[in-house]
Amino acid sequence: MPNYGVPPVALARGAGTVVWDVDGKEYLDFIGGIAVLSLGHAHPALIQAVSAQVATLAHTSNLFLHEPEVKLAERLLTLLGHPGRVFLANSGTEANECALKMAIKYGKSTGRSYFVAAEMGFHGRTLGALSLTGKPAIRDQFGPFPLDVRFVPYGDAEALAKAVDEECAAVFLEPTQGEAGVVPPPDGYFAAAREITRQAGALLVADEIQSAIGRTGHWFAHQAEGVLPDIVTLAKGLGGGLPIGAAIGFGAAGTLFAKGDHGSTFGGNPVSCAAALAVLENVDLDHVRSMATLLRDGLEAIRHPLLKGVRGRGLWLAAVLAGEQAGQVQAAAQRAGFLVNAVQPDAIRLAPPLVVTAEQIHTFLTAFPAILDEAGDG
Ligand SMILES: *Cc1c(COP(=O)(O)O)cnc(C)c1O
Repeated sequence: MPNYGVPPVALARGAGTVVWDVDGKEYLDFIGGIAVLSLGHAHPALIQAVSAQVATLAHTSNLFLHEPEVKLAERLLTLLGHPGRVFLANSGTEANECALKMAIKYGKSTGRSYFVAAEMGFHGRTLGALSLTGKPAIRDQFGPFPLDVRFVPYGDAEALAKAVDEECAAVFLEPTQGEAGVVPPPDGYFAAAREITRQAGALLVADEIQSAIGRTGHWFAHQAEGVLPDIVTLAKGLGGGLPIGAAIGFGAAGTLFAKGDHGSTFGGNPVSCAAALAVLENVDLDHVRSMATLLRDGLEAIRHPLLKGVRGRGLWLAAVLAGEQAGQVQAAAQRAGFLVNAVQPDAIRLAPPLVVTAEQIHTFLTAFPAILDEAGDG
């Protein structure tokens, strides 16, 4: 279908942070399947885990239990550091559908009827998650939606406080907005959101689908804020390329569902769970932090009229441009052998695999000024 347009490159294979297209041209992959390829391409631990699992037990449905899903839920709760319950899905949007159904149930039992989300926020493409998504271009033509969702400017704690009262069931927020262009909020915003929702009795749902699994240098971005949400949703980086999503409810939020309230045939399938366990075993937060510093410092040191600044956290940055030339920069980077993402007309998203090396970052930084030159000329 025409929904993706025609992608500019057809990829054939990859190894670590390197990929090759079908014509044999080599690229450094600095977008990593949109912050998905935590361990890069063809990581030996992922190959081993997935191959062994598919050869043992590939699928059970939710009628039967299997060991990888139990191990994964336990491992996630350990990393999160708080008691909770885990629902496993296949994607980000499904993780948010689960959180939304939990919030609807919570609202019905406590007399709360509306939801709050952020302008420009992204929560997925299925109808529930889309109704929470604050990007008019992808949302409006599919409305009206059956839920009362109210949008507030992202990063504005005062506006959030005004929007949330005793009839609000839940607030959905990304700790840093990914699809909006890797936009972190002002310091203290997430803590303020926690305080506002606590006072009003609304649930706080942290959509960590893009921000979690080491991407920011922490396992979960909310941990850096010292804030515990009621629900966290995960997906992208969790499976290292295999499809998986998770919604985690802490404390009382973990038992909002009763038997029969929700389900998925494929969700939490053994192969994806084995992949996720391999990812969690092999992400090295110290490495992420030191590579993040290299990339950020290197970008900030570039003096170029087209490069206005750098924003973001960890190995999840946006090079902010002085004009709306992100499309040209993405194309020039591709010609020079680098895959990056024009996430906004004036922003280039960088989310390389978490195993990217210092040498690869150096190669990218060395090439970037000439890429900007070429984009500026074009
Ligand atoms: C990608 C993303 C989603 C949707 O995930 P899919 O797997 O594409 O459905 C939801 N929320 C955030 C913050 C995302 O980055």
